[in-house]
Amino acid sequence: MKKPELLMPAGSLEKLKYAFAFGADAVYAGVPYFSLRARENDFRIEELKEGLDFAHKYGKKLYLTANIFARNVKINSFYKHLDEWAELKPDALIMSDPGLIGIVRERHPQIPIHLSVQANCMNYESVRFWEKAGIERVILSRELKSTEIQEIHKRVPNMELESFVHGAICIAYSGRCLLSHYMSHRDANQGVCDNSCRYKYNIYEKSVSQDKEYYLEDQREAGQFYRIDEDEHGTYIMNAKDLRLIDHLKEVVESGVCSLKVEGRTKSTYYVAMVARAYRKAIDDLCAGKEFDANLLSDLDKVSNRGYHSGFMINGPSQESQNYSETTRFYTQKFGGLVVDAPSAVPDTVAIEVRNKIVRGETIELIAPKGNSYFTVGDIYNDKGELLDAVHGGTGTFYFSMPDKPEPFTLLSQPEVLANA
Ligand code: SF4
Repeated sequence: MKKPELLMPAGSLEKLKYAFAFGADAVYAGVPYFSLRARENDFRIEELKEGLDFAHKYGKKLYLTANIFARNVKINSFYKHLDEWAELKPDALIMSDPGLIGIVRERHPQIPIHLSVQANCMNYESVRFWEKAGIERVILSRELKSTEIQEIHKRVPNMELESFVHGAICIAYSGRCLLSHYMSHRDANQGVCDNSCRYKYNIYEKSVSQDKEYYLEDQREAGQFYRIDEDEHGTYIMNAKDLRLIDHLKEVVESGVCSLKVEGRTKSTYYVAMVARAYRKAIDDLCAGKEFDANLLSDLDKVSNRGYHSGFMINGPSQESQNYSETTRFYTQKFGGLVVDAPSAVPDTVAIEVRNKIVRGETIELIAPKGNSYFTVGDIYNDKGELLDAVHGGTGTFYFSMPDKPEPFTLLSQPEVLANA
């Protein structure tokens, strides 16, 4: 079996570096103004350059996401930005808009283009169409079954196929959702989705003559009602569980997919690292002919999620695929902090950038690219060398006495057992 690519998200340079350290082959990051993660995107041209230099130094790839469907007003500035991106020599651009794709093909034909999932490519004739248009890879719609992908691969064998295997999934067909635009005037297709589908809604029943009508009330806006209808399959509200195909990678790869993609440019560094490491091991085991390691499922329970399902790929969605009761994310561990390479005023200590409250005496799990270990928090110092009993998330870097120096890129993880986990 040809080893598939593990493609991780990066919302920042830090996440990009951790994704590579924990096993990603390639990473995707949004370009300013033209990516569908407009609100949570730390990348500017300088960071993209640094990210590409970092990736190429370690023989990895960075794809730049420019998958917005542009309005007229953005076309002129697209030319200018495109020329800047081209100078960086990205490994590919991820795009949706046929007009913008045409501009890239004419102006910078050397840049490979991957068709974004946002373009909803769902059948082999569409894939053929994009092949003729010069597209190198198609990121298939999340709504496809593995058998459909198999047929696409058989009929268009030279097209690279990429598929999502993990992460949040829309309750709408990817890229065709108007919920957020309608409810909050924030257009998901312009990169500013407010996750309207994730919120809690009250349901009201009203009798009208012989019939019943049902209404949703958005809890963010009391008194705002939306009429809903049901068909024989039910009502599609609203909070889809997250996709998780780590235990189905054999079917996915055998269907012809060459790149396995994880969603989550807005997720934490901890999330990126944990998910990359789990999928790295699952892919390596699969290609070495080893059995799937079920411990990887509990590793994925440690990161934020809405409950998991296998999406459309294997058996199709069911009632179990929706999380009707909670918008809360389940997880069993919290992101405590990360080991950083910083000079210390206190000898024989380890510098840790703190992301969550840490107190003396608590047990911390150290998550490193090569494996996990535990330590009990002892002395903690600030940069003046003062001894502290506790430190709080987001307050900076502190210096911890530790029995051994952790390997680079080690993360701190704390147990967090939620009632509904
Ligand atoms: S509102 Fe929900 S379904 Fe719609 S684009 Fe946003 S995340 Fe997807």
